[in-house]
Amino acid sequence: MRKTFAVIGLGRFGGSVCKELVESNQEVLAIDNCEDRVNEYMNIATHTVLANAQDEATLRSLGLRNFDHVIVTIGEDIQASILVTLMAKEMGVPHITAKAQNEYHGRVLEKVGADLVVHPERDMGFRLGHKLTSNNMIDFIELSDDYSLAEIRVNYKQFFNKTIQEINFRKHYNVTIVAIRRGKNDLIVSPPAEQVILEGDVLLVVGHNDDVDYLDAKMK
Ligand code: ADP
Repeated sequence: MRKTFAVIGLGRFGGSVCKELVESNQEVLAIDNCEDRVNEYMNIATHTVLANAQDEATLRSLGLRNFDHVIVTIGEDIQASILVTLMAKEMGVPHITAKAQNEYHGRVLEKVGADLVVHPERDMGFRLGHKLTSNNMIDFIELSDDYSLAEIRVNYKQFFNKTIQEINFRKHYNVTIVAIRRGKNDLIVSPPAEQVILEGDVLLVVGHNDDVDYLDAKMK
C-alpha cells in the first residue's frame, strides 16, 4: 500500500532513505533548507520543498500532520533535529523516525516523541568491527540485544557432508538454521533435518550472540 512519507534533511542518510522509499513506490515529500540539496532531489522525490524545518508555520502549511511517517534526518544541527521531532509529535504524526548523532541525542529524541531512533554510524561501525573480528561470519543482524541472525560460511571439516540432524545444531550449538545459501543461486529455506551440509555452504542461523560466536569460532 502506498504511504506518505516526509523526509526532513537530505544529507547522505536522509537522501538514501528518500531514494529507497521512492524506489519502493511510496510518496515522499523531501524537505531541506539547502538549495543545492533540494535541487538534487527535485527529480527524485515526489515533492521537494526548500524550507527551514524549524519553522512551525512552514511545517503546518506543508500539512505535516497528515503524513503517515515523518523521518527526521537532520545531521549536525542537534537542536534543529530535536525541535522538528517535537513539533512533528505535537502535530500528531503517527510514526516518527529520527536519526541520532550520539547516545545523548538519541535519548532526547525518544523523550520528545520519536517512535524509532536510529544510530546509523554507531551501528555500522559495530557491525563492521564484528565482521572484521569474526572468522567466517559474512553478516549479521541484531534481533535484540542478545539474539542475532548471522550468515556463517561452513569451513569446518567435521560438518562436511553431514546432515543437520547428525551435527545436531540445536542441541550442540544452541542455534537454529533458518536457511542455507549454496553457490550463487541456491537458497534452501527452512531446511529439513535430513539436509546435508556441504563445504562452502553459508548457514543463516538464529541464536544467542554467544552461541553464534561460538559456532563462528568453530569454523576456523
Ligand atoms: P548526513 O551525515 O546524513 O550527510 P548532514 O548533516 O550532512 O547529514 O545532512 C543533514 C541535512 O539536513 C543537510 O542537507 C542540511 O541542509 C539539512 N538541514 C539541517 N538543518 C535543517 C533545517 N533546520 N531545516 C531543513 N533542513 C535542514
